[in-house]
Amino acid sequence: CSSAAVHEEPITPPVEVKYNQLLINGQFVDAASGKTFPTFDPRTGEAITTVAEADTEDVNRAVSAARNAFDEGPWPKMTAYERSCIMLRFAGLLEKHSDELAALETWDNGKPYEQAANEEIPLLIRLFRYYAGWADKIHGLTAPADTLHHVQTLHEPIGVAGQIIPWNFPLLMFAWKVGPALACGNTVVLKPAEQTPLSALYVSKLFHEVGLPPGVLNVIPGSGKAGADLASHMDVDKLAFTGSTETGKAVLGAAAKSNLKPVTLELGGKSPFIICEDADVDKAVELAHSAVFYNQGQCCCAGSRTFVHERVYDEFVEKSKARALKRVVGDPFKKGVEQGPQIDTEQFEKILKYIKSGAESGATLESGGEKLGSKGFYVQPTVFSNVQDNMLIAKDEIFGPVQSLLKFKDVEEVIRRANSSHYGLAAGVFTQNLDAANTISRAFRVGTVWVNCFNIFDAAIPFGGYKMSGHGREKGVYSLSNYLQVKAIVTPLKNPAW
Ligand code: NAD
Repeated sequence: CSSAAVHEEPITPPVEVKYNQLLINGQFVDAASGKTFPTFDPRTGEAITTVAEADTEDVNRAVSAARNAFDEGPWPKMTAYERSCIMLRFAGLLEKHSDELAALETWDNGKPYEQAANEEIPLLIRLFRYYAGWADKIHGLTAPADTLHHVQTLHEPIGVAGQIIPWNFPLLMFAWKVGPALACGNTVVLKPAEQTPLSALYVSKLFHEVGLPPGVLNVIPGSGKAGADLASHMDVDKLAFTGSTETGKAVLGAAAKSNLKPVTLELGGKSPFIICEDADVDKAVELAHSAVFYNQGQCCCAGSRTFVHERVYDEFVEKSKARALKRVVGDPFKKGVEQGPQIDTEQFEKILKYIKSGAESGATLESGGEKLGSKGFYVQPTVFSNVQDNMLIAKDEIFGPVQSLLKFKDVEEVIRRANSSHYGLAAGVFTQNLDAANTISRAFRVGTVWVNCFNIFDAAIPFGGYKMSGHGREKGVYSLSNYLQVKAIVTPLKNPAW
């Protein structure tokens, strides 16, 4: 059983903390108040280090640095080609620092080192190369208006972008936000999550080493209070947020009450994954397992409602249980570990409460259900069968390693049930039947559909939610429009005939 795999003596991380202050105007500085907060190792619950804690005065300092860098340049006034070159050099330097970055991410977040090193850091690099490629390909248009005027559009940066990110993918969230904002010529104030401030500081220092001008990218670790200050700041021109739906509502309200800054929101999810009757059960079990357990279940798009056709349901339950029991849980620095600890005590307690509620509401606990080890925030991979739509475990975003297996009879019924959620972030379908794949994909009210795959995240694939899962799309070409505004320039023609 996986419980044997937890290591009580944590492996020493092959990296040290170099930066733990605020990064404002190209300099590391203490908070104006001198305050700091601890960031914890989820393997033990012990502090890794303390980090400067931004408050209102620091938010003001960072916004003013970003404002100055935008208004006075050089960033938006450089050629787009020069911006692109700096971003490409940054991607090259990230490549050189891949090992330290992966280790820092694992240490502060608890995710498996192999996942960080083999999947997330390469994607981080890919994202910056992708957006560096866009920087000098942002074109306006000429528009065919009346014959009396020449009409052209300019696609201009919005200004100072405030960006608030969560702890589940600290570096990828950094890249999803900072990459397109800078490619379009904006300047940035980024607030990392209080649980995982270290990697954003590290990579931002590298960015300055390759020629990023001071003030273009400011990083201010701190609590939700610093995020709220950013959201309501009168001199922030655009806000991008990823996190919970509750906080997303607060951020949208703050933006509306201050200067009506446009807001992009990437919020929660309760993604359905539909396994049709023709599915190869072994393959489907493996995919559904990784769809929900990946990153300790801490993914906004986790396939946390697995709908299985009644004809294959019993076999699917048995095999899902066996797979969960085999999942290797342990020190995320150890080779072969698939699942590390949850991020913090709050999430850990919340997940255990949901597991209790699942059992109390009548779902069958097939495997797991308990915490693991005596230190840190490890939770057993947990599988529930006989889950009903109205149970809390089938409705709420648990954000943990908990799989809910629901049974269905026919396609129309499962589409209705899958769509019956306030969320609409992502969904999956597993079938060999092209008609079923097309029907179900088109019927889902979600921003991403994975057909016979799940959790595919290339830089070019847009991502975002329908309904209460958010506003706008990140990644791909779509993300550029979050950071651009369109100016129409109209000029009378002297000789309309020409
Ligand atoms: P959260 O939404 O509170 O935090 C996300 C970010 O927002 C952090 O940087 C935080 O400091 C900041 N923040 C908090 N309050 C703020 C405010 N009033 N104004 C502006 N910024 C603010 O999320 P959490 O408390 O870390 O996690 C709670 C739940 O959110 C999780 O259990 C999970 O369900 C969900 N979550 C979703 C995602 C996602 O990717 N969609 C990521 C993390 C958490």
